[in-house]
Amino acid sequence: MLRKNHFTVKHIYHVKFKIGIAVPPSNDIDVYSQDIGLISIIEDGKLVGFNVTVGGGMGMTHGNTKTYPQLGRLIGYFPKEHALDVCEKILTIQRDYGNRQERKNARFKYTVDRYGADWVLSELNNRLGWSLESPREFHFDHNGDRYGWTEGSGKWHFTLFIQNGRVKDTEDYKLKTALRKIAEIHTGDFRLTPNQNLVIANVDAQKKPEIEALIDEYGLTDGKHYTGLRRNSMACVAFPTCGLAMAESERYLPSLITKIEDLLDEAGLSEEEITIRMTGCPNGCARPALAEIAFIGKAPGKYNMYLGASFTGDRLNKMYKENIGEAEILESLRPILLQYAKERTEGEHFGDFVVRAGIVDAVNDGQVFHS
Ligand code: SF4
Repeated sequence: MLRKNHFTVKHIYHVKFKIGIAVPPSNDIDVYSQDIGLISIIEDGKLVGFNVTVGGGMGMTHGNTKTYPQLGRLIGYFPKEHALDVCEKILTIQRDYGNRQERKNARFKYTVDRYGADWVLSELNNRLGWSLESPREFHFDHNGDRYGWTEGSGKWHFTLFIQNGRVKDTEDYKLKTALRKIAEIHTGDFRLTPNQNLVIANVDAQKKPEIEALIDEYGLTDGKHYTGLRRNSMACVAFPTCGLAMAESERYLPSLITKIEDLLDEAGLSEEEITIRMTGCPNGCARPALAEIAFIGKAPGKYNMYLGASFTGDRLNKMYKENIGEAEILESLRPILLQYAKERTEGEHFGDFVVRAGIVDAVNDGQVFHS
């Protein structure tokens, strides 16, 4: 997106910097977790511009409360033709004011917290030579994927549920073989989603029956026959792939979900859409701080448990229990799920309920994540 060679070698800043674009009502990219988040503003079916958020990020270090996940702060709106200029000027603010002395404090989220979002806006306006407008109205419904078939731009797109993003063949689910067969006849493309799923994209109407036949033949799923919890689950790879892992994640979450599903069944909540995420360490690759239920690995078999993020990805969760194993996870969740089933208001999501019920405090600013 940025002009090639604009940042010369001496300006290279060796810190991760993420830019994401969300199209309401879907927040599938978790726009508040991005260093720069662009929220598309659509009017009369046309993109007119973007609201911009600054300074989101997930990573932290266990035991170091100066590190924390943070939400991007909404600072304004600009017409779409300025997207490149706005992103470039924000990057130069981080280049000039980011902390180069302390690596754990180097991400843009800490720069924004150190100087304040108002200062970032004013500095950005100065560098642009014009001012952002007030943010425009928008609304997010969810931060997951839209499964199944959708139609757009004269083509068809099928979002396939892939548990934790792992494509492999098992005895009773030949996912890898099926995708290879589809690839042999598919004239469109495949797209990885930020929720670890796969879109078989740009399917021509005349090709759709053939793709559908393969989907049926191999029993590929849009997730509908899974619980709302499993459909909204995500885990990082952790062991054995990631050298930073402190606990299992991808290989463990599916079996933990099976046990939580028994609790959901008991509470009559099997169809309830609840986001659940797990990572093997606090670097947060599966964006756990934005899940209604989350687990962050501390040691083999031990996790910190977090509750209370919003279903739309605009509120962080809060630690509920520290360093617990599976038995305590299930013991802790059971009464809360039963209470949720009994006391929730119509349409109230689990994360909102645990905050309203006082089970955890709302965290709308990462600076109070640990307090
Ligand atoms: S969250 Fe930690 S364990 Fe998981 S993939 Fe990222 S760095 Fe590895």
